[in-house]
Amino acid sequence: MTAVSSGPPRVLGHTRPDAVTTAFDDHHPPDPALIADCVHCGFCLPACPTYLLWGEEMDSPRGRILLMDLAARGEIGMDREVVRHWDACLGCMACVDACPSGVQYNRLVEQVRPQIERHFTRPWHVRASRAALFAVLPNPRRMRSLASAVAVTQALGLRRALRMKPLQRLVPKTVRRLDDMAPSLRLADVRSRTPHHLRPRGQRIMRVAMLTGCVQDAFFTHVNRATARVLAAHGCEVLVPPLQSCCGALEIHAGREEPALRRMRNLIAQMETLDIDHIVVNSAGCGSAMKGYGAFLADDPFWAARAAAFSARVRDVMEVIAELDVQLPARLHSLPVRVAYHDACHLAHAQGVRLQPRAVLGRIPDLELADLKESDVCCGSAGIYNLVAPQAADDLGDRKAANVAASGAELLTAGNGGCLLQIQAALRRAGHPLPVVHPVELLDASIRGLPVAQLQARPRNR
Ligand code: SF4
Ligand code: SF4
Repeated sequence: MTAVSSGPPRVLGHTRPDAVTTAFDDHHPPDPALIADCVHCGFCLPACPTYLLWGEEMDSPRGRILLMDLAARGEIGMDREVVRHWDACLGCMACVDACPSGVQYNRLVEQVRPQIERHFTRPWHVRASRAALFAVLPNPRRMRSLASAVAVTQALGLRRALRMKPLQRLVPKTVRRLDDMAPSLRLADVRSRTPHHLRPRGQRIMRVAMLTGCVQDAFFTHVNRATARVLAAHGCEVLVPPLQSCCGALEIHAGREEPALRRMRNLIAQMETLDIDHIVVNSAGCGSAMKGYGAFLADDPFWAARAAAFSARVRDVMEVIAELDVQLPARLHSLPVRVAYHDACHLAHAQGVRLQPRAVLGRIPDLELADLKESDVCCGSAGIYNLVAPQAADDLGDRKAANVAASGAELLTAGNGGCLLQIQAALRRAGHPLPVVHPVELLDASIRGLPVAQLQARPRNR
């Protein structure tokens, strides 16, 4: 295959006389060696959610890699059709798990997305809605203002009015979609903050810093507070640095490389001032990005070692609890409920965290784990995917909701806020509005002796 040579960026139609024409510039194009690892065996196809939906070769990992190969060789350009197939990828990494040849599709998709951002011009309305999303979502302060607005409109009954047919035509599509996905919120919840410091219960076993996140800090403050309590109950001294920035996950997964790297550097600088054993995360998407900082900043001489040291300390909250519980079991109360556990892609496929949440939930007396078919097939949330590709996201959400309903569960749990919102919306569409909670909330309820009804009574996104 044609190697991509060094030098200034060369894009199809803008080649130097002595250069190979290629659709990519020279800043981290999809690595030809990684592309060549694919032997086109097709073992990944049944694992790929978009291939499951549409049965289209170019919407499979193998097809997308072939398109990268052809684009690198200059046999195709970065046109609308090609970008459509790459854009339709959820970045769920199920194909990485399924591939017997060890193809690192995760790295390939991380390399191709910034190339799309640099060389493909999306229609103006798509650019406008993406710009609006990225002006708000990764900004904790703006997210909290948005969450407050959602809480107020809900309290005044305006969300219902927004959904009335005549008004719907006046509301932009992205806003309607955000409204569909936004959870029910109480202003008091949005305003209450996670304490900046929690002492361990009993002897201190470790000292951790917690990421509060951007979307998480606005829509899931109750999960952040439960996480801090559960960690403290297991012997952790918990630090919650104030004024945290977003971790950059949403932007890096969308190919917005520069702002994402800026956020990564900010967070590293903030966390490295603390004397801690681990950086604990309760959101799968954030955790997988933070474990990847070392790779994202590998060619930055000032940050490479610092980023690698940061990544080495990142743990999902369920990893920490599974490890600590062995040493210091907290007293757990009965929680008689049948629960379906959904494997968030960025926890199961990207971080390999599958057993720990199940093991932790399995310790809660009387909690029963239901069999959930296709528990590790993407629910369609995938960062901003359910906002920018609503039809595919809904199809996957409906498939997930049908499986949850068939499991006979009374409650759905997943270690990622985006999945919780996406599955909750799908369950509601299916007429099966189960409560959805983070696993840490179940553990928190069991430690505090709260009744299941309290979890089930939480307001849903209506
Ligand atoms: S990505 Fe892996 S599993 Fe899929 S076709 Fe290529 S080699 Fe086979
Ligand atoms: S990351 Fe997920 S959606 Fe994308 S090609 Fe792989 S399996 Fe398919």
